[in-house]
Amino acid sequence: MLNVHFLGVRGSTPCADERFVTYGGHTSCVLVEVDGTIFIFDAGSGIINASPIVAKQGACEAHLFFSHVHLDHIMGFPFFYPLWNKHFTTHIYAGSLGAYGGIYNFFANTLKEPLFPVSFTEFPGDIHCQDFEPGYTHKIGNVTVDTFMLNHPNSAVAYRLTCNGKSVCYVTDHEHGDNSNREGLIEFIRGTDLFIYDSTYEDGNYQNFKGWGHSTWQEALRLGDEADVARTAIFHHDPQNTDVKMAAIEEDVKKISSAAFVARQGMMVTID
Ligand SMILES: [Zn+2]
Ligand SMILES: [Zn+2]
Repeated sequence: MLNVHFLGVRGSTPCADERFVTYGGHTSCVLVEVDGTIFIFDAGSGIINASPIVAKQGACEAHLFFSHVHLDHIMGFPFFYPLWNKHFTTHIYAGSLGAYGGIYNFFANTLKEPLFPVSFTEFPGDIHCQDFEPGYTHKIGNVTVDTFMLNHPNSAVAYRLTCNGKSVCYVTDHEHGDNSNREGLIEFIRGTDLFIYDSTYEDGNYQNFKGWGHSTWQEALRLGDEADVARTAIFHHDPQNTDVKMAAIEEDVKKISSAAFVARQGMMVTID
């Protein structure tokens, strides 16, 4: 059984005022519990709500996969409290930093004074870093995590976590305008139980943001349909989209597909 927690569903920036309370304002973070093992995708500001789930599980390690290291996907990282526990091990994985010296060097060179008073190399918890080439498959116990290169400035990687035939795909940040890898992405997500997709824009306004590295909720539905996925989660919402706007999108999504939904912060989806 997979429990998928949407801890942060925004892209770009958190949004914290009363216009955003229904869908939530934290940036990207999805936590998946698999038989007591913790997998986390991205460390946006939503990761601050991962700590109680980790504590409840009594876990002493977590596997944290970065799609990439744009600010909205790492800003919560130092506030993932298990990093401050010397009995806890965090395994960090990244496949987008081959051209930038890898994930260890990235954090060691940026997460330090004066940006943050404790440097990456001095957290009390154990941190293990692993870089990989997109396309690589991780095997962790009885879980596999497949990876796929996305179309995004500075590059980004999609993940497909599978356990006992059940799977969830985490696909953000990605611009669909480049069709070169569309067929590959469809095969990557084919038949998954839950497809989480970068739906920052809409087909109607996408032209204004070409080249910004994001996709639309309509493309989420098209991909979900073509790849025969069970459920599609609209994700990485534009921080400009208030609850009123998100509710309108949700209405439009429902008209087209009963298998798709708009991800809200705090939502949990169980796949069993
Ligand atoms: Zn993003
Ligand atoms: Zn990005």
